[in-house]
Parts: sequence; C-alpha cells; structure tokens
Amino acid sequence: MLIDYHMHTPLCGHATGEPAEYAERALEVGVGEIGFSEHNPMPRTFDDKWRMRPQHMERYVEMIDEVRERYSRKLPIKLGIECDFRPGTEEYVRDTINQRQFDYVIGSVHYIGEWVFDSPEELPAWERRDVFEVWREYFDLVARAANSGMFDIMAHPDLCKKFGHVPKQDCSLLFATFLSAVKKNDLTLEISTAGLRKPVKEIYPSRTMIEMAHKLDIPISLASDAHDPAEVGFAFDQAVPLVRSVGYTRIARYSRRKRELVPL
Ligand code: ZN
Ligand code: FE
Ligand code: FE
Ligand code: ZN
Repeated sequence: MLIDYHMHTPLCGHATGEPAEYAERALEVGVGEIGFSEHNPMPRTFDDKWRMRPQHMERYVEMIDEVRERYSRKLPIKLGIECDFRPGTEEYVRDTINQRQFDYVIGSVHYIGEWVFDSPEELPAWERRDVFEVWREYFDLVARAANSGMFDIMAHPDLCKKFGHVPKQDCSLLFATFLSAVKKNDLTLEISTAGLRKPVKEIYPSRTMIEMAHKLDIPISLASDAHDPAEVGFAFDQAVPLVRSVGYTRIARYSRRKRELVPL
C-alpha cells in the first residue's frame, strides 16, 4: 500500500490546488491513503509568508475535515501538520499541536539560526559558509528536534543537501547521532521524493542514511511534499524500489498519533 503523508494547501501561500484535487490525484496514481501537513503558524515576524497564520488554523482543520468526509468511502485522509523546529519557539509550537487532534506531526528544520538555508533567496549565504560546518549544525538541530518530544515523523532528513552542497568529509557520525535520537524517541523517518525536484536531484535522505536507519529498525513514511496536486505520489516508483532494496517491507500509517506498520 502506498501512503503519501506530506502535502500542502493554499493556506501556506506557496502551494496551489484544493485538498479535493490532491485526493483526486491520489486516486489517479494509486496512492491508497494521504495526509495533509500544512506549515505550522509561528510567533509573528519570522518567515511569515511561508506558513499559515494562527487565524488560519481553524479553516485548515475544517478544510481537511470536509475533504475527509467527502472521500470517506474512497480514500482515507489524515490531518497532519509540518512544524518547524526552531529553538525558542518550542512552547508556542507545542501549544499549536496540543490544541487539535492531529493524526501525526511532522518535524522539520528549515532554519539555522536566522538563516533559511533551504530558501533560494538565501542561497548566496552558502558561499560564506563551510559546507561541513553547516551540515554539523543542521544535524545537531534535527537531533534536538527528534529529542524534543514534539514530533512523530522527521521530514526530509538531509534537507541540507538541497542545492547540492555535500561535504567531502565522512558524515556518518552526524547521521548516527541524529538516527539514534530518532530511534530513542521511537520516531519515523520520512523518505521524501521532493529532493528529486530540487537541484540535488536526489531523494531525501541518501541511501547511506536509509541503510543506517534500517539497521536500527527505524520505521519510514513516504512523502512527496506536494505543493501542487500533480505532485501527489511524485516519483514513488523510484522511492519504493530504493527502500525495498535496502530491506524495508513496511511503511508507517498514523491515526491520532498512533503508528502502525503496513505492508508496502
Ligand atoms: Zn512548503
Ligand atoms: Fe519542509
Ligand atoms: Fe512540506
Ligand atoms: Zn516540507
């Protein structure tokens, strides 16, 4: 069974298409269950234009309830949310999460300090940075995110490679520290095909990290990170053989923040 747990709605301001169009696309491409994961609201003034506002939360939940109801006989639809981990905002984000009954919560790191390292607008800052140093900081943050107790699924685990900045140094120790936090907290690792649409042209995370995760018996979820209905289930025909070749036979499915593993 294919499940796509990462897709957005127009509420974040940079995605198009109504939830029903995402559902239709899932049915077309043979994805058997989907979940929406809109970018969470944050305290004002930080990166506001990339996320839903606090006053949109109500509407978001209603939208997903509506589409869930409408497709109840054809396609299971889950209510998720993609939450940024940014030190100092944990309290606020925890509140957002606790106010609603989500099926799952995805944790993401898109910021290193004030730097939105995955934004094309902030690409020049990479030139002033040492790539290995950036990766070290990134993996330190995702490990902290995993240890925060706020999330169920860790998104696009090696997002720091997005533009093709990959250090020459061996990064396995960075991966190991992060993955042991994922394991210790019994979280799920997201396999995201979004990286194939970015300059790096690679699934997140790398095969090396997927192999390490499999050795630790860490469960995985599948994600397109669709910001357009056409992207639902994007390149799952590459992701599935990849994870199978590593040894995975099951993927995570969530209801009310409880995980079960279903055959892939
Ligand atoms: Zn987005
Ligand atoms: Fe993200
Ligand atoms: Fe996303
Ligand atoms: Zn995302």
